[in-house]
Amino acid sequence: MTHRAGPESNPSESSTTFPQVAEPVLRRVQDTIIAWFEEAARDLPWRHPDTSAWAILVSEIMSQQTPVSRVEPRWRAWMDQWPTPADLAAAPTAEVLHAWDRLGYPRRALRLQDAAEVIAADLDNQVPETTEELERLPGIGSYTAAAVSSFAFGRKATVLDTNVRRVLVRLFAGRERPTTSPGREETAWAANLVPDVKHVEWNAGVMEFGALVCTARNPDCPACPLHDICTWNQLGRPASATKPKTQKWAGTDRQLRGAIMDVLKAAHAAGDDRHGVSLDVFTTSVTELDPTLIDSLSESTAAAVARVRELSADRDRISRLMTDLVTDGLAQKIDGRLALPNR
Ligand code: SF4
Repeated sequence: MTHRAGPESNPSESSTTFPQVAEPVLRRVQDTIIAWFEEAARDLPWRHPDTSAWAILVSEIMSQQTPVSRVEPRWRAWMDQWPTPADLAAAPTAEVLHAWDRLGYPRRALRLQDAAEVIAADLDNQVPETTEELERLPGIGSYTAAAVSSFAFGRKATVLDTNVRRVLVRLFAGRERPTTSPGREETAWAANLVPDVKHVEWNAGVMEFGALVCTARNPDCPACPLHDICTWNQLGRPASATKPKTQKWAGTDRQLRGAIMDVLKAAHAAGDDRHGVSLDVFTTSVTELDPTLIDSLSESTAAAVARVRELSADRDRISRLMTDLVTDGLAQKIDGRLALPNR
């Protein structure tokens, strides 16, 4: 038995329940989103029908926490360089990290190469089709597994990223935004909303709708084709009591780690890193620094070092972050020098 999610329901801000949705309402939403997607979807290269499952998997990993506009050129270059899992598996890791460039969260590049190694060595260089098999790959979580199974293989799956979750909770539960991550109850609820036919278009459509119309900060409700049945809109769009976590960048360890990685990538590109960059260039004060250490670097590497030094003069902090990079597999230390990993 179902009851309609509508303005008469009064979902509590902290409620973790997810209302059942009446069949006619669900059908209207499904038809509307699918029709909207077929009209309005962006022409992204990984949506082209001849795109390989591997290329789709790469696009999904790159798109996590990174806007499509930054992903697209990097994805094209990446697929030219490493068109199959075996190509990426055989690549030097330093080259992989360099190619990841400024997409952020570079551990994703390492996990992608780990997955490529398993696919190449154990799966005949073929990306597996089911969510269960995909989730067994290193670094592939439930979202990516569902997205690849759906978008690459047309299998019915529940693709739940932040955009999808936001659209669904606004439409049917009357809340401004979802919780930090989906629990079992929400996942089961969302699975019941996936249609039996055109489920790929539904998955891609809700995601795109959340990215372009029902956005986190500025949803275009007046132009929305579902504004008349959207529960959150009908409730007057009440703000959530909790603020979304904003990801600070300036002054964070993440920013400084990124700057250190930029030094290693610049050194790699310039060929400075055959023996790595001396740790002293990061941690010795300007007055005590042997100037030949800087003079021996390429211009781009020296500029990247200067950037690290501008960001922080705290030697302990820089040393700690360098150790973290080594622990995370993003760098190696050899004889007092730091370089991209060599594996
Ligand atoms: S009416 Fe607004 S909040 Fe509701 S689905 Fe449309 S864009 Fe999203």
